[in-house]
Amino acid sequence: MDTHIGLPVEFKNTLDYAQFLDEKDPLHSFREKFYIPLINGKEAIYFTGNSLGLQPKHTQDYVLNELEDWANYGVEGHHHARNPWVSYHEIFPPLLTDIVGALPEELVVMNQLTVNLHLLMISFYRPTAKRHKIICEAKAFPSDQYAIQSQVSFHGFDPEKSIIEIAPREGSAVINTSDILDAIALHADELALVMIGGVNYYSGQVFDMKTICEAAHQAGAYCGFDLAHAAGNIPLSMHEWNVDFACWCSYKYLNSGPGGVAGAFIHQRHIADPDVHRLAGWWGHDKASRFKMDKTFLPIPTAEGWQLSNAPVLSMAAHHAALEIFAEAGMENLAVKGKKLSAYLIHILKEINKRLPDPLIQILTPEAENERGCQVSMLMLDRGKEIFDALLKEGVIADWREPNVIRVAPVPLYNRFEDIYRFGEIIQSCLQK
Ligand SMILES: *Cc1c(COP(=O)(O)O)cnc(C)c1O
Repeated sequence: MDTHIGLPVEFKNTLDYAQFLDEKDPLHSFREKFYIPLINGKEAIYFTGNSLGLQPKHTQDYVLNELEDWANYGVEGHHHARNPWVSYHEIFPPLLTDIVGALPEELVVMNQLTVNLHLLMISFYRPTAKRHKIICEAKAFPSDQYAIQSQVSFHGFDPEKSIIEIAPREGSAVINTSDILDAIALHADELALVMIGGVNYYSGQVFDMKTICEAAHQAGAYCGFDLAHAAGNIPLSMHEWNVDFACWCSYKYLNSGPGGVAGAFIHQRHIADPDVHRLAGWWGHDKASRFKMDKTFLPIPTAEGWQLSNAPVLSMAAHHAALEIFAEAGMENLAVKGKKLSAYLIHILKEINKRLPDPLIQILTPEAENERGCQVSMLMLDRGKEIFDALLKEGVIADWREPNVIRVAPVPLYNRFEDIYRFGEIIQSCLQK
């Protein structure tokens, strides 16, 4: 039986068994909605949906519709396009509520991830001489490190003193929740913000966001999450967990195309609070009076009030196409299958290790089901780059991180259990060479 999700003891490392799991998978047919890249004329084993998700086949239609409307209407398309451009962004909150776990009024699609991170830190990182510290994960994604450092400097503080990084303990790639909580308690009086990734991009570790957020609030600090590797991957409840703000990109698990438009969450209790500062632009201004071009900024009393510029419709059309597929598949179903795919992958990697004279693959990603999504990070103990290059030759698109890590993410919309079985075969033959 394979009904016990994530119980690797039940898994079998055979092609028959992998195909049996695919046949029983209720999301199996979704793969046909995507273009799968070819390598040597054969469909690649595409395990980098955590870096750039694949293109849905109907995305071109969505983008072409907007190009056609632009051709047909010119400026009139703002009001007369099939999806009028003035309000195009209003399509998104209902499509994102289940993915992020939020109320529609807490959501807005705008800008890019790092830009949104800055805009939200303008609102939620307001350091004072007494409270100026930020707790974040050590070796966060570089863009997040630069954003945090530059915000601290921008406010006249010293990043060396104001940024508290929490690192994994010696010999581990995973950060202990208790170490984060201890740091929050230790710095409580000086703490302004806790800002970490929902899922660590390097190890694939899922953080206990609810517990971390509670502790931050208890210390009198705000708490925000970068959901770049979480949105579309794991179940999220931003509203219920009381998170102050979050942001994410749309081109990883959300399949909305390179550099696609990003998203932001601002908790309901802040969206209409005049004490929460923000940088303002005309698209955040009250819709009824936006075109009166009045000098006084009157923010929309939802997350939309954080918008600066008018909507990038072409990029939004691709995002719209991709989110329609999420709505059809259901985020809950996707999260269950994602965890099961990675559980199967971990099972196979362990078997491969057992067959070798010395284990060659150290799995950095936590095995516990609530501590990972679909990504599995493998530390190669020998010949890492050689094996990575050999994988690509054999049709596997994975991700290489210096010094010796191969990240693979079998994603539930278009990866199959068969892909994982075949990946196991290929990596085993590379290791035996
Ligand atoms: C992918 C990723 C980014 C990329 O930022 P952009 O502004 O979209 O270029 C930033 N932070 C994290 C954690 C990421 O995973």
